[in-house]
Amino acid sequence: MAEFCLELSDDQRQVRDWVHGFARDVVRPVAQEWDEREETPWPVINEAAQVGLYSLEFLTDAFADPAGLTIALVMEEMAWGDAGICLALFGTSLAVTAILAGGTSVQVAEWLPRCFENEAGAPAVAAFAATEADAGSDVSSLRTRAVYDEPRDQWILNGTKAFVTNGGIAGIHVVVAAVEPDLRSRGHASFVVPPGTAGLAQGHRYNKMGIRASHTAELVLRDCRVPGHCLLGGRDRLDERLARAREGRSSGRRQAAMAIFEASRPAVGAQALGVARAAYEFALQYATERRQFGRAIVENQAVAFKLADMRTQIDATRLLVWRAAWMSAQRRPFGAGEGSMSKLFAGETAVRVSEQAIQILGGYGYMRNFPVERWNRDAKIYTIFEGTSEIQRLIIARAISGIHIS
Ligand SMILES: Cc1cc2nc3c(=O)[nH]c(=O)nc-3n(C[C@H](O)[C@H](O)[C@H](O)COP(=O)(O)OP(=O)(O)OC[C@H]3O[C@@H](n4cnc5c(N)ncnc54)[C@H](O)[C@@H]3O)c2cc1C
Repeated sequence: MAEFCLELSDDQRQVRDWVHGFARDVVRPVAQEWDEREETPWPVINEAAQVGLYSLEFLTDAFADPAGLTIALVMEEMAWGDAGICLALFGTSLAVTAILAGGTSVQVAEWLPRCFENEAGAPAVAAFAATEADAGSDVSSLRTRAVYDEPRDQWILNGTKAFVTNGGIAGIHVVVAAVEPDLRSRGHASFVVPPGTAGLAQGHRYNKMGIRASHTAELVLRDCRVPGHCLLGGRDRLDERLARAREGRSSGRRQAAMAIFEASRPAVGAQALGVARAAYEFALQYATERRQFGRAIVENQAVAFKLADMRTQIDATRLLVWRAAWMSAQRRPFGAGEGSMSKLFAGETAVRVSEQAIQILGGYGYMRNFPVERWNRDAKIYTIFEGTSEIQRLIIARAISGIHIS
């Protein structure tokens, strides 16, 4: 049991400073280049793997902090370096979370290392594919089907997934599919598609507004056959869950999986916090150096008050993120949707603060050779993915009211 404490331990401080150094020295100098190239920054991933920053061990250690703050610190610092590169490095953790949430201990041991490394020991990324063109916020209506071929003990996956981070370039893909569509989300199951499986292909690759160093693509599954042991959780658990759903009984297992995804929200909020902080720091420095009317622009209340608001919102965000991260690590239930609060507030703060930073830089803020316009483009994703701001508000509203608000 770790008490909630705002004073970082030596270990937490050490990890934070180490990741900050990598973000400052390796990530920042190439952030603009990868934003423009709009490609996965493999040289950065390779370097992160070499120093041990991109590895199962590092992520496991960060998540093992009983106070929960280490993972928040890692995400904030890396996204401070660049949000797109941060996602190129940590997009893999979506698949990792899904395997941890739904897999048996044998599956966890088999697949987690493969999320980070291919068979030859070279760095690899992983992907988690739930969203479809007509199933975004409402994933219960997804159309990708999984049919069991009993004689061959194989699952056959068919469908098209949309907006998949690392889709098609990943080694391991975790795919959510409907086994019994009539049961909506309670009839879904998750499957590991191992590297090189026939029938899985990258579809359209999206060109995005921001986080452009992170690869996003459609994933096409056409008679994609995976061995029976790729069903996360195994056949018995699925059959039991489906039987309960058919009888209208609640499924503790599904709720546990949902809780794990809710628990990962503070880490996403921490990334948004990193983007906001980057924009604020740049704007503060600029405001003290830029002179108009014979004085630094920060000497005008209109500018200084903006910076005061930006800093206040950033500090408030960090408190929400750290609280939720601590609750999550302590396995405390989010009785008032605290995980969603952290992600909601962080995403909206990142958008507001980066927009204000552009304003403080004036015309220079609008130019591509200054980073603040990129930070503003990057910030917007945090109000959309991993549950939009509206969906976070729904979760909070339902939690505090006890009413199924729609
Ligand atoms: C860059 C990027 C990366 C992504 N990576 C992944 C990934 O790796 N894996 C994956 O599975 N998905 C991924 N996604 C998908 C992402 O999670 C979805 O885009 C998101 O959940 C929203 O779904 P949608 O885009 O279909 O929007 P919609 O669900 O169509 O929503 C459109 C608008 O309607 C609002 N809305 C919808 N329903 C309600 C409601 N009940 N009440 C109030 N408002 C509502 C939404 O808030 C939003 O403003 C990614 C998306 C992007 C853009």
